Amino acid sequence: MDKCSFCGRTKKEANMLVAGLEGHICDHCIEQAHNIVTEELGSKSNTLFETVNLLKPAEIKAFLDQYVIGQDMAKKIISVAVYNHYKRLMQKPDKEDIEIEKSNIILVGETGTGKTLLARTVAKMLHVPFTIVDATVLTEAGYVGEDIESLLTRLLQNADYDVRAAERGIVFIDEIDKIARKGDNPSITRDVSGEGVQQGLLKLLEGSIVNVPPQGGRKHPEQKMIPVDTKNILFICGGAFEGIEKKIAQRLNTQIVGYGASRNRERIDKDNLLQYIAPQDLRAYGLIPEIIGRLPVLTHLNPLDRQALRAILTEPKNAIVKQYIKLFKMDNIDLTFTEEVMEYIVDKAIEFKLGARGLRSICEAIMLDAMFEMPSIEADELSVTTDYARLKLERIDFKVLKAS
Ligand code: ADP
Repeated sequence: MDKCSFCGRTKKEANMLVAGLEGHICDHCIEQAHNIVTEELGSKSNTLFETVNLLKPAEIKAFLDQYVIGQDMAKKIISVAVYNHYKRLMQKPDKEDIEIEKSNIILVGETGTGKTLLARTVAKMLHVPFTIVDATVLTEAGYVGEDIESLLTRLLQNADYDVRAAERGIVFIDEIDKIARKGDNPSITRDVSGEGVQQGLLKLLEGSIVNVPPQGGRKHPEQKMIPVDTKNILFICGGAFEGIEKKIAQRLNTQIVGYGASRNRERIDKDNLLQYIAPQDLRAYGLIPEIIGRLPVLTHLNPLDRQALRAILTEPKNAIVKQYIKLFKMDNIDLTFTEEVMEYIVDKAIEFKLGARGLRSICEAIMLDAMFEMPSIEADELSVTTDYARLKLERIDFKVLKAS
């Protein structure tokens, strides 16, 4: 009679017997064996190979291309930085003792040009915990606002409090420019949201063990802290650095005085000075040198032109228009947009200076009525034309759109 070669259960006693070459195994033993295997592997999973899906820089860029339009330089630089960062984590201690330094990234570009999107897409690709935090909520310890350590609370939460996973996650710090030192003399008044915060942030960027309040907010003595090592967390900072063009221009002007000056001057593209950004400009803007030193990868994002906005509507893998089509398809409605209406939406986004961020709010305004009514009526198609869009938009107060 067939029985389990491990525990001896007969076919009747087990729910199932799986036959092997020279014996059988029952469902109980399969389950037990599975538990042993996962436990064993779990305790050994100190290497990153299981959790991080490491692609080559060109593959990383190709992945980013599917979601982010344009911004080629930024994509290339990020691809290399992310690749090196994770290679660094995989390095085994060797005789040479060459330590690869951490490659935290700082992205400078107008709002709505894709800084967050880039960081989010990288995290998606790597399957690591990711969080976006806003530097503006941070203040020095002892002041109203959130402690620096709370930056990591959300990361921990997103990693389901798996500290090991969080320790190799990605944190996107938005509006880093808002903690720049205001003015040149910090000693007159205490610069609550400036240099002190930068000093605090430095600790995280450098890599140290910080005590994170699991529920966020301010530290309470009664709250049990979770120690998190930030050594391997990749920090990507983003900021618009409004007005930094002036600092760049100043630097470029002083540089090009002298031999060959006129030749250089011709080559400078004054409409997009951001492309020449260098660490010293960040310093002139009010970031302390130590912070700049800990953000060695600096890159800029270009303002989005008409063509880019038009592409953003339909080209990315989860482009806005594709999302609406999918939503309607779920109700068996065939949704189409005319080429003309897409140009119209882009026009409006430019007209209201809403950038890429505005494309979505404009589309929402156009589609709201249809999304409300169509599921309850017997309809199987909707073609969004310019007339339709104009009609819907006319009723909207654009101040509302601008605020969103
Ligand atoms: P930022 O962080 O630079 O202020 P975001 O990355 O949050 O801007 O962009 C806002 C939205 O605009 C994104 O969710 C995305 O839909 C769209 N967007 C912005 N830039 C791009 C881009 N280069 N390619 C595709 N979509 C973009």
